[in-house]
Amino acid sequence: MSSSDNEINESASLSLGLFPEVVTLFVDVIVPLPLPNLLTYRVPAIMNDMIQVGARVIVQLGTRRILTAIVARVHQDPPKKYIAKPLLELLDEAPMVTTYQLELFRWVADYYMCHIGEVMNAALPSGLKINSESKLQYNPEFDVNTPLTETEGKLLEAVQEKNSLSTDEAARLLGQKDIYPIIKSLSKKGAVLVYEEVKEKYTPKIVKKIRLTRDYEDWEPLKDLIDELEDRKQYKQVGVLMKYLARVPVMQNRTANADGLEKSVLVKDDISESALKTLVKKNVFEEFEIIISRFADVPYSGDDVQLSDSQQLATEKIMSYFKTKDTVLLHGITGSGKTAVYINLIQKVLASGSQVLYLLPEIALTTQIVSRLRKVFGDQMGIYHSKFSDNERVEVWRGVLSGKFNFVIGVRSAIFLPFDNLGLIVVDEEHESSYKQYDPAPRYNARDLALVVARLQQAKVLMGSATPSFESFYNAKQGRYGYVKLTQRFREAQLPEISLVNIRIERKQKKLKHNFSDTLLTSLKDNLTKGEQSILFQNRRGYAPYVMCEDCGWIPHCHQCNVSLTYHQHTQEMRCHYCGFTEQMSHQCPVCGSTRIKTMGYGTEKIEDELKLLIPQARTARMDLDTTRQKNAIQNIVQAFEAGETDILIGTQMLSKGLDFDKVSFVGIFDADHIIHFPDFRAHERAFQLLTQVAGRAGRRNTQGRVLIQTGNPELFVIEKILQNDYEGLYEKEIPERQKFNYPPFTRLIRLIIKHEDEIMAEEAAQALANGLREKMGSRVLGPEPPLVNRIRNQFLKDILIKLEKDNINLRLIKEQIREEIQKILTTKQFKQASIVIDVDPM
Ligand SMILES: [Zn+2]
Ligand SMILES: [Zn+2]
Repeated sequence: MSSSDNEINESASLSLGLFPEVVTLFVDVIVPLPLPNLLTYRVPAIMNDMIQVGARVIVQLGTRRILTAIVARVHQDPPKKYIAKPLLELLDEAPMVTTYQLELFRWVADYYMCHIGEVMNAALPSGLKINSESKLQYNPEFDVNTPLTETEGKLLEAVQEKNSLSTDEAARLLGQKDIYPIIKSLSKKGAVLVYEEVKEKYTPKIVKKIRLTRDYEDWEPLKDLIDELEDRKQYKQVGVLMKYLARVPVMQNRTANADGLEKSVLVKDDISESALKTLVKKNVFEEFEIIISRFADVPYSGDDVQLSDSQQLATEKIMSYFKTKDTVLLHGITGSGKTAVYINLIQKVLASGSQVLYLLPEIALTTQIVSRLRKVFGDQMGIYHSKFSDNERVEVWRGVLSGKFNFVIGVRSAIFLPFDNLGLIVVDEEHESSYKQYDPAPRYNARDLALVVARLQQAKVLMGSATPSFESFYNAKQGRYGYVKLTQRFREAQLPEISLVNIRIERKQKKLKHNFSDTLLTSLKDNLTKGEQSILFQNRRGYAPYVMCEDCGWIPHCHQCNVSLTYHQHTQEMRCHYCGFTEQMSHQCPVCGSTRIKTMGYGTEKIEDELKLLIPQARTARMDLDTTRQKNAIQNIVQAFEAGETDILIGTQMLSKGLDFDKVSFVGIFDADHIIHFPDFRAHERAFQLLTQVAGRAGRRNTQGRVLIQTGNPELFVIEKILQNDYEGLYEKEIPERQKFNYPPFTRLIRLIIKHEDEIMAEEAAQALANGLREKMGSRVLGPEPPLVNRIRNQFLKDILIKLEKDNINLRLIKEQIREEIQKILTTKQFKQASIVIDVDPM
C-alpha cells in the first residue's frame, strides 16, 4: 500500500467526521399488547446517539393510542409494508430492561405460547409504563427545592391541586400535544409518580418522631432542666424525659438523638401526651417526621443465624451438590428450619459478589419472614410484593439495576426483575400452586422459570419444601436435582400427633353438633382451658357453599356461570366465586314459594359463627380471601394471633403457607373429604401437601402439637399416609399411576380452553379443533370435554388436553402445529366469536 493511499483514506475519514452522514435508524419495539409482531418505528435523528436496546420509548399506535414500548432491536431497515412513525420520546439513557431479560421474555412467549407484549406487561411494574390512560400523582417525597422549568412548575401545580391528573388532561392544560418530555423530566426529578388508575395510589408510611432540641443535647442543660422540673413538682414532664433517655442513649452517643424516638413509644396515655406537648412548647423536644418503607420497622441488627448440626450438614451437602448440579431440592419437614439454611447460603453467595433472588408464595411474604431476613441483611434486601404500590415496585426494579439491591425477596413476578449477575435463586415452598399465573397470559410458573433464569445467568437454584411437588421429587430421584433431606425439627420439637375422627360414625350416633364432632369440640375446649391456641382449617370461604329450598330442592345458581352461589351472611348476599356476581339472599323460594331456605355445607364464616355458639368464651378470628382484601389485613390478623389476642384462628389454605405460630398446640381439620375428592390427577398429592402443611402449624418449640382430621373416609390410602407423615409412601403409590395414564412428570400437558357464548358453537369449535389436532398428533389429544364448571361469565367452556411425551419429541414443531390449528378455527367465519386460551403446564 502506498503512502498516498493512506493519505486518501485519512482525508476520507476526516471528512466523514466533519460532515457526518445522517443515518436513519429504526427500532423494533415490544408494546405491552397481545400482538404477534414487533412494531418498527423511526428514530428521530436527535436520538440517534442515545437510542439503545432495552431502553423505554413512547410510541403512538393508531391515531390516538400512546404507549410505552421497549426497544428490542436497533437497525437501518425501513419496514416494507408501512411507513414507520417516529418515536415520540426516549425515556431512558441506560437500558431499563437488560438483554438477558429480553432473552427471557422471548423464551417465555415461546414456551408458554403467548405474545411477547403480554410478557412485557406481566414483567414491568405499571409505574414504568406511561400510556394515554396513565395518571400523574404528586410525589409526597418530592424535595421542593428542586429547580423546575416554568412549564414543569405549571403542570406540577395542577397535579397537586387536583390530586391526580391524566396525561390527556395534562396535555389539554398545557395546550400542547407533546407532553411526554415534561412528564419524563418531572418524574426524573422525583416530582410526580405515574400510575394506572386501577391500582391503589402511593401513600408513604410516615412516622412521627421526637428528639431533644440542640439546646438540650448536652448533659448540663438537661440536668438543670430536670432539677428545675423536680423543684416545681412537674413529675410527669420528668417522667417523659427519663423515658426518652432510657431508650435513646444520648449521653453515651450524641448522634443517637438525631434519629430520635417514635412518638407513639413515648406517649402511651393522655397524661404523658400533655406533658410531652408542654416540653415541645418549651423547646426541649422537637417533633419531626420520617418516611419509612413498609417493612422497615425491624432494624438491621447484624444478626447471625446459628445453625443446628443437621442444618449445618444440610448446608454443606447443598454446597457440595452445587459443584456438579444446577438445582438442589431441600426436603425439610415442617419446622425443620429451612430458612436458616437459606440465610446461610444467601450470605455466602452475596459475599462472593453475586445477586440472590428469594421467591416465596404471595401469602407467605409477611412481616414474619421479612423481619427475620431484615435483621440479617438490612437495607441491601429489596422486597417485591404485589400488595405494594407501583412506586414501591419501581423502586425495587431501579434498585436492582443500580446495584442498590443485590438481594430481593419477592413473589412470582420478581422472577422478571433485571438481575444480571444472579448466583442463587431460592424457591421456597416450591410445591405451591400460586407460583403459577392463571390469568391473564403469560400463564407461567415462576418455579419453572427460575431454572431458565438460572441457566441464562449460570446461577444455582435451591428449591425447598416440606412436601415437594411430585415433579421435583421425581427429578431428584432421577438424579437431575441434588436432594437433601432435613428430618429433624428445629430445637428438638416433635412432629404433631395426627388422629382421625370418623364423622360418618359420629353422625349415626347423633354426636355431631353442626358437623362438629364431639372429639373436635372437646379438643378445642381443652386447649382453651389450658390457655393454648388452636387453628381450625376449612378450605371454603363464605358462609355456606350453597343454599337450597327444603321443599322443592331449588338451588340458586349464578346467571353467568354454571355454579351455585355461595351465601355470605356478613353481607347477606349470594356470591359467585367465579365471576363475582352477587345478589341479595332470597328468603323465599322463587319456584314453590316456600320460605324454608336452608344453608348447605360449611364455609369459614359459618364455622366461626357456630363456634361462637358452641364455645362462647373463645375469641375467634378468621383468615380467608374475604377478611384479607385490605392491604395490611393479613399482617393484622397474624399479629393479633401472635400476641395471643385470638384463641382460635379459623381459615382456608392461606393458613398453610409458610406462617409460623409459636403457641399453637392444636389444629383441627374440619372437612378433609372435599379436598381429597377433587377430580384432578393431582388431588391426592395436593391433599397430602395441604393437610400436612396445615398440620405442621401445630406444636413448635418444646411441645408436641396435636392434629385432628374429620373425615368420612378414614380408610383412604392418602389419609393413612398423612397420618404416618409418609410422603414417599404416597409418592411410590401414585407415581406408577401417573406413568400408566401419561401424566406429569412423565409427560408435558397443554390445555386448550375453547370459549363461546353459544353452547353448541363452543362444542362445534372444540370438536373441529380437536379433530384438526388429532390428525397431526393422534392419541395425544384428549377431549373436548366440559370442565368442572362449564360456563363462566356467560361463556361456555370446552377443554382439550394434549399429553406430550418428554423425550424424543419436537416440541417446537408441535407448538407450531397447535398455533396453526387454533388459527384455522379462529379464522373460520362461523367460529369468529370463539376465543381460545392456551395453558402450557396447567396446574
Ligand atoms: Zn322451593
Ligand atoms: Zn358467576
